[in-house]
Amino acid sequence: MKPPPFGYHAPGTVGEALDALAAAPGGKVLAGGQSLIPLLNMRLAAPSDLVDINRVAGLDTLHAGDGGVRVGALARHARVERSAEAAAVQPLLGQALRHVAHPVIRNRGTVVGSLAHADPAAELPAVLAVLGGTVDTASAAGRRTIPAAEFFAGPLESALRPGELAVSAFFPAAPPRTGTAFTETARRHGDYALAGVAAVVTLDEDLRVSAARGGYLGIAATPLVLDLAGAAGPGGDWAAAAAYVRERIDPEPDIHAGAAYRRHLTGVLTERALRAAAARALRRTG
Ligand code: FAD
Repeated sequence: MKPPPFGYHAPGTVGEALDALAAAPGGKVLAGGQSLIPLLNMRLAAPSDLVDINRVAGLDTLHAGDGGVRVGALARHARVERSAEAAAVQPLLGQALRHVAHPVIRNRGTVVGSLAHADPAAELPAVLAVLGGTVDTASAAGRRTIPAAEFFAGPLESALRPGELAVSAFFPAAPPRTGTAFTETARRHGDYALAGVAAVVTLDEDLRVSAARGGYLGIAATPLVLDLAGAAGPGGDWAAAAAYVRERIDPEPDIHAGAAYRRHLTGVLTERALRAAAARALRRTG
């Protein structure tokens, strides 16, 4: 199928991009196009204008520092996935990115685009949410920093306002003695997951669990973050944490999986991911 007609703009600077967005209230940003172009071709979206940011200088950035990893709006999935610097500061990013679609799509799709798309079955929104990251935006009205807890408003709905460009996303660093793990189940590798979890476990100096969280995809309208430290206890009873998650979630059935199966699966994935994250946290104590 072919997309409906649209005006096309190819700005070279952030200022030009913001001008183009301000002049086209029914317009959309085009980044990697891995979600937007299929939506246009299937006529599920009909923006008046596309503001293609691929030539905008200064957005193709990836910076891993002490505080975390900042990913610019044009940093592609594949680049972030393969970055040793990013993995050293926040390994959960690379662990999750391996599950996003296929290599061809990861070569073109962007991390920030995936957050802006706000698909509840996508991996990166759950990662940003469980880490308590932020999205930085710019528009003709000024700049904002939006916490992950406010960024995901509903299925395919972010807190971005018309005319607003997501400039970068920030994924906070893993604290000392912290391990992370990502696991999901999809019918075929690269498909959207039926359910998945991004797990973070932190140990104290006596190697007791001091923090444990799960960030969930595929089971609610927005990424769900659950604090699991209380359920797991200081000794790390991961089966108890999984039982707690099964009780807490209320997944919807769809054509891919029923609610009971999703609930069971989410428990299994929780236990698996927490166990792997705790093992990694132990290795980071030595
Ligand atoms: P685009 O397609 O360019 O844009 C997506 C949306 O975000 C649009 O509404 C656009 O206006 C908005 N947007 C993009 N960038 C910005 C910005 N900087 N500021 C404001 N708004 C912006 N995704 C997964 O997470 N997991 C999967 O398993 C998965 N499987 C896929 C399988 C296939 C076959 C395909 C085609 C896609 C799959 N995807 C999957 C989707 C895809 O990987 C991401 O959604 C995509 O990479 C998003 O980034 P993009 O740069 O391509 O965004």
